[in-house]
Amino acid sequence: MNAIIKSIHYAISLLFSCPQQQPVVDPYAEPLKAMEVCNVCGALLVVGDAQQRVDEHIMGKQHSGYARIRAYVDGKRQVHFYMLSCVQMVVYCHFLKIKISYYLV
Ligand SMILES: [Zn+2]
Repeated sequence: MNAIIKSIHYAISLLFSCPQQQPVVDPYAEPLKAMEVCNVCGALLVVGDAQQRVDEHIMGKQHSGYARIRAYVDGKRQVHFYMLSCVQMVVYCHFLKIKISYYLV
């Protein structure tokens, strides 16, 4: 019976002296760097990185692809707003009983 109690005490001492309570330090971990999100493609960039790396990112496939998509969408959006404003002008002229030909001259 005494041996059982000793083994229980030993198990409890092992449980409370668990090495997992101490933080594990990775000797190969790099220090944390300040990061920012690219406004065009959403990639994470290191703040204050070398200009060559920034240039490589801007010339890269992901960034240039997103830039082309954004330019395309912005062009479509401008055409859409222009057409919408034309439609609105026609509707306003209709309700205000104004001849559109005045504006088209
Ligand atoms: Zn980018």
